[in-house]
Amino acid sequence: MAEVTVVGAGLAGLVAAINCARNGRQVRVLERFKQVGGDPYIRPAVDVTPMEPERLGAFIGVELPPPYVTPTLEFPIYVYGRRYLVPGSRLHLHSVERGSRSTSLDTYLYQKARDAGVEFELGVELNSQKDFAALPPNTIVATGLEVDPFLALRRPYLPVYGFIGKTRCQGPPRVMGFFDRYTRYYNYCANANGVAFALGFDARPVTESLRDEWDKQLREWEGMDFETWQPHEGVVATGKMTSPCLYVGNKILAGTLAGMQDPFFLFGVQSSLVSGKIAAIAVEDRERAWRLFHTFTSAYKYSWLYKRFFDAQPHLLREWGLRLGFGAYLRYPHFVQPAIDIALRSLPGYGKY
Ligand SMILES: Cc1cc2nc3c(=O)[nH]c(=O)nc-3n(C[C@H](O)[C@H](O)[C@H](O)COP(=O)(O)OP(=O)(O)OC[C@H]3O[C@@H](n4cnc5c(N)ncnc54)[C@H](O)[C@@H]3O)c2cc1C
Repeated sequence: MAEVTVVGAGLAGLVAAINCARNGRQVRVLERFKQVGGDPYIRPAVDVTPMEPERLGAFIGVELPPPYVTPTLEFPIYVYGRRYLVPGSRLHLHSVERGSRSTSLDTYLYQKARDAGVEFELGVELNSQKDFAALPPNTIVATGLEVDPFLALRRPYLPVYGFIGKTRCQGPPRVMGFFDRYTRYYNYCANANGVAFALGFDARPVTESLRDEWDKQLREWEGMDFETWQPHEGVVATGKMTSPCLYVGNKILAGTLAGMQDPFFLFGVQSSLVSGKIAAIAVEDRERAWRLFHTFTSAYKYSWLYKRFFDAQPHLLREWGLRLGFGAYLRYPHFVQPAIDIALRSLPGYGKY
């Protein structure tokens, strides 16, 4: 039985591994941590993303049920201090627990992979060009937003800085978004399965006083009291308009390392799941996988350009534009919803399977 190696036991790597095993391959997954669930410094976390779990599950061959993927019921969004309450269902938002708890999507996929006969080598880290060159052809590299593989495989990225808040929180899944003067990006706070997670981030280092300003807003406006705050330095995969890339030499890329991250909101969960399936197809049929990948990322350049345009606007214009947009959306949803549905289809992979 021909062997396939997968580097990274995250969303894309696990979906790729499950599908390769089901295609009759002997699959070995190499993961840098001693457990599946990603970096314990960041996780447990709650990621929120637009998703169509039924259709996506059918495409990747793995059901995506609660509690691993749950509809996000409420989406209060603060635009420079003004609150707009958007039902999460209008944006097809879903909350996804990440990490190594039994209710996380990572643990669920890990179990599915083991059931499919996938073998795991935990505590193995591959970072340098030499490490990757030593791997067999058709190795799937799915190392997420870890910077060293981006450097070793010469993939573009952007650094991001910020802070992560963690606490416990009961109640139905919600996500709160914040556009304000303290970031050129946006901040968000989400809860699911008793976990609450907050991420404030920007393209440049964020001061503690800006973090404290947001912490105060979270407490006073939403009653969210975070037990711990810690600094975060990481990368996002949206370095270039041409970031999406399926092959580097004889290696197959998957997940965010393959550029499968939406340039505007930086959603990466649903695109990484999609891309795990494409990587498994690539092992069997490179040409077919490339065509799918190309179709699924065809709108990427437009949202990348729009993001650059949006980031270049002064806060006053952003405030005005966002208030106009959200105000119109809540007042005339039937007119605006078709435009939202079209915009959602610009997320890599969204709704194209
Ligand atoms: C703080 C934060 C918040 C986020 N919030 C959201 C959100 O709300 N919504 C959303 O859609 N997306 C969000 N994302 C992005 C989302 O988490 C990623 O897009 C998604 O996890 C990518 O899946 P992946 O399979 O590419 O990588 P991952 O799921 O991260 O998996 C990568 C795996 O590879 C392993 N690995 C890394 N480097 C190596 C190495 N050198 N050798 C061996 N193994 C390695 C890792 O330990 C990990 O297990 C967020 C990301 C971060 C960092």
